[in-house]
Order: sequence, then C-alpha cells, then structure tokens
Amino acid sequence: MKPSVLQYLKFFLLFAFGEVTTAHVPDQDVLASLNKLPLDGHFSFSDVSTTAAAQDFGNLSNFKPAAVLHPGSVDDIATTVRHVFLRGEHSLLTVAARGHGHSLRGQCQAAGGIVIKMESLRTARMQVHSGASPYVDASGGELWIKVLHETFKYGLAPKSWTDYLHLTIGGTLSNAGVSGQTFQHGPQISNVMELEIVTGRGDIITCSPEQNSDLFHAALGGLGQFGIITRARIALEPAPNMVRWIRVLYSDFTSFTEDQEMLISAERTFDYIEGFVIINRTGILNNWRSSFNPHDPVWSQFESDGRVLFCLEMTKNYNPEEVDNMEQEVNNLLYQLRYIPPSLFHTDVTYIQFLDRVHSSEVKLRAKGMWEVSHPWLNLMVPKSSIHTFAREVFGKILKDSNNGPILLYPVNKFRTSVVIPDEEVFYLVGFLSSAPSSSGPYSVEHTLNLNNQIIEFSDKAGIGVKQYLPNYNTEQKWKAHFEARWETFLRRKNAYDPLAILAPGQGIFQKAL
Ligand code: FAD
Repeated sequence: MKPSVLQYLKFFLLFAFGEVTTAHVPDQDVLASLNKLPLDGHFSFSDVSTTAAAQDFGNLSNFKPAAVLHPGSVDDIATTVRHVFLRGEHSLLTVAARGHGHSLRGQCQAAGGIVIKMESLRTARMQVHSGASPYVDASGGELWIKVLHETFKYGLAPKSWTDYLHLTIGGTLSNAGVSGQTFQHGPQISNVMELEIVTGRGDIITCSPEQNSDLFHAALGGLGQFGIITRARIALEPAPNMVRWIRVLYSDFTSFTEDQEMLISAERTFDYIEGFVIINRTGILNNWRSSFNPHDPVWSQFESDGRVLFCLEMTKNYNPEEVDNMEQEVNNLLYQLRYIPPSLFHTDVTYIQFLDRVHSSEVKLRAKGMWEVSHPWLNLMVPKSSIHTFAREVFGKILKDSNNGPILLYPVNKFRTSVVIPDEEVFYLVGFLSSAPSSSGPYSVEHTLNLNNQIIEFSDKAGIGVKQYLPNYNTEQKWKAHFEARWETFLRRKNAYDPLAILAPGQGIFQKAL
C-alpha cells in the first residue's frame, strides 16, 4: 500500500506549520486500551515521563507523547506495536523507539504517540561468544559503553565505534555509527551479523545477510522506519590494552588531506584516523574534547588566532609487551607525514579510556551546565573530489571561527550499505558540532542555524554531491533529493514493513495513514 496523496498532503501541512504537537490529538480509545495489554513492563502516562520523552540532546524539538512504554520484554514491544497497527488504522497514533535520546532534531520523539524507552529492555544479559568469529548478542537498548565493558572481560571488543559510547545499539544502528575506525572496518552497521526486529505490523523477525536479508539491510541505517531493533549480534575482535594517541598540526589543507588519504589507504596504518579544523581560535586546549592530555603540553604555542589549522588525530593499539614494535610502526608512519614538526603530541591511555574519551568531556561540561544546551549540529558527507572546493568556501569564509564547538573532518573508504552516502570511493565526514548556550549573538541557535544553512546552500548551489549524515529535512522533495535513486527502494520497504507509517515519526519522512 503506497502512502496516498492525502497522507503526503497531511505530512506537508504538519511540517509547513511546524508544531506537529498541536496537530496531533491522541486517539483516546487506543490509549485507554493500552493499560489492558498483558505486559511484563508497564506504561507511564505521567507528565514527568511524557515531558522527559519530549526532550533530546539537540534541544531544538519538543514533541510530547501521550504515553511511555517501559518494556519488560520483546513481547511487550510487539504487543504494543501490533495493538496500534490493528486498532490504530484510523488514528494518528505513532510509536517511537527511544534509545538514549541523543537525537538532534526530535527523531526519537512521537507527538501524541507512544515512546518506547528501549533502555528498559536491558534486562536480558549480554551473551559474549568467543571462538574463531567472536560476537556478542545484546539488547537494542543497550549502551555501547556497557557492551565495551562486558566484552572486555573476555579480552574482546567490537571493531567499529562512534566517538561517544553513551548511545544505544538501536540508536546508532538506525543511522550508521561512524568514527575513526570506519575507514578500516566500515561503520557499525557493517559489523552486525544478525538482528531481531519488531516490524510496524508487530511481528518479531530474526534477520541476517542470509535470512530475511531485505529487512536486515533495510533496518541497518534505516532511520528506524522499518522496525524496532530489539537484539543485535555484533562482531568482535581481540581488544588491546593500550592506545598511543597522537595529534599533529597542519597549516596546509592539501598536505593534511593528502596525508589522511594516504593513511586510510595504506596496508599497515593506524587503528583510528580522524581530524579536525581549528579556525581563528584562542586556546586550542580549551575545547570539549580536551580529554587529550599530551605529555608535552605546549599546545599553547599553536594558537590559531587569525588562521586556520588542521589537526590530524591517530591512534595505534598495543599491549604493554609490544611497546617497542608499536613505537617502530608509529615512527615509520609519522615519518611519511608532512605536519608542522614541533606540533607532534602524544599520550598513552588504556583502550577503554580512549574509547570513552568524550564522556570525560561530558562530565566536565555537565558540571558547568554546558551539556544540556541546544546543539544545532550539522553532519555532512563530502565527496573527496569536492573537499577542497568545500573547504575553501566554508573554513574562514562562511565560518570565521570554530569557537562554537569542534569541527571534525576525516576521510573514509566507501562502504556497502543502504545508507545514503556520496557516490565516490573516498568521502569525508565533516561534523560541525556546535553548542548554542546563548539566546542571541554568535553562540545562539539562530546564528548557528543560519551558518549551517549557508553551508548547505553553498553545497547545493555548487552541485558538489554533499549528503547529510543524521539527515533532517522538512519536505518530501528534499527527502527524495537526499535518497535519489534509493527513494523507490525506501518506499517499497516502508510499505512492506511499516505500511501504516507507525514507526519513528520524528524523522519526518512519512505521515501515518488516515
Ligand atoms: P535516539 O536518539 O534515542 O534515537 C535515534 C533514532 O533511532 C530515532 O529515530 C529512534 O526512533 C531510532 N531508534 C532508537 N532506538 C531504536 C531501536 N532499538 N530500533 C530502531 N530504531 C531505534 N554518531 C556517529 O555515527 N558517530 C559519532 O561519533 C557520534 N558521536 C556522537 C556524540 C554525541 C555527544 C552525540 C549526542 C551524538 C553522536 N552521534 C554520533 C550521533 C548518534 O549516533 C545518533 O544521534 C544516535 O541516534 C543516538 O543514539 P541514541 O541511542 O541516543 O538514539
């Protein structure tokens, strides 16, 4: 069943008038019947619960649900979705899985609908399987940091990460899950062996590359549109104990990107490669990722007042008995790079400390009341062939400084996926991770969104094939332009697995059937 013209019209009206909340009137019949469902967990209708479920990390969207489900089992999720599917054909009731609520634009919210608190599902114990192809089975609501701690007990760990681990498995697998390991292992969605999913019809389906493969590929990076991930089987590898964490600075963008590209294509290379852009910034150390404490703390000589600097960040994993080999390999690699010589800094930390590095910054920011502010982030994927055009216009021209937050920039190799990515062998992930603590001026939401729009408008006009990561659009035309040739497949899968458009309404792609 294809979404009808009427459905699309409703979708446009809702977005044209912005506040979806006012347009959604919860279906009282269906809501009243929720309490009668036989559940292991429970529903909460209290103002405290629904208000909390209307918030996210972005702090830019606020859509209150009518009810919050705390599932005690996978059956609870299936029962609830099936109930809405069967009873809600003529209502507006929708269902959003909420991982850790670290969405940026209300993607984990459901205006007037049901939010499922996936973290309540962490009841089942994680199962680590060692052997030739080790893996862990974990709940979709499990935090990656918990996965790390549990697998580490067996000397194992997942291969691919995000920079921040206080996110859930279901939340990152619905997007992609990218970080400095992506060039080597692909994103997190490329390291999944099996999923258990509750579809928009309320069916519980196990899928893998061999079994129900269409649903498997649809759900990975599927923006929560095709089902709720209740369990994931994630590939593991032996975990190192230690990490040498290195940063070097460049003033020349060409040398910086050529070195990054050389490193991601080399056979023997670093285990993690990222980079960031520093524009006209006093106090390089004074940023939210300052968990990096080099042995030689002379960063202060490298202030970027009035200029743009580029920082290449790399790590090499090692165990204590391998330190000599590690140093030799690191030196061989560093020898090939063209950074500013005195700008080489390194520190040695445990593997867990390195992977959990952003959390250290979170703790500091929370203490200053700077974590709960608005985050008008913009994440882009820029084809390698356009990265210079992009950089020339954006760094120093549109963006006069990087004081609002870090700007990440690093290349990855193309990966096979159903996620929309640029059509080139290598593309750059560019993240403008701005905080907006003020109500006016350069640190305000308005100012930052304006800069983001200028970047998007420039990229569109220049026709350089940029795609959004964690995409956010408010018209069907823009979603279609985002998906391009993949739109028809996306639509077909939506009709197959969630034909009433019940799931993940906060993504704003489909509107529930009338
Ligand atoms: P939520 O925000 O709760 O949900 C996100 C979307 O997924 C929603 O549409 C929701 O309905 C859906 N969803 C949630 N759980 C499920 C499920 N079990 N099944 C199906 N759908 C589900 N991303 C990266 O790739 N790399 C990074 O390095 C990175 N760093 C980040 C750092 C910070 C500080 C933050 C705040 C975000 C970062 N992100 C990064 C983005 C992050 O991956 C996404 O915002 C992710 O969706 C957040 O996970 P969550 O568990 O909070 O999901």
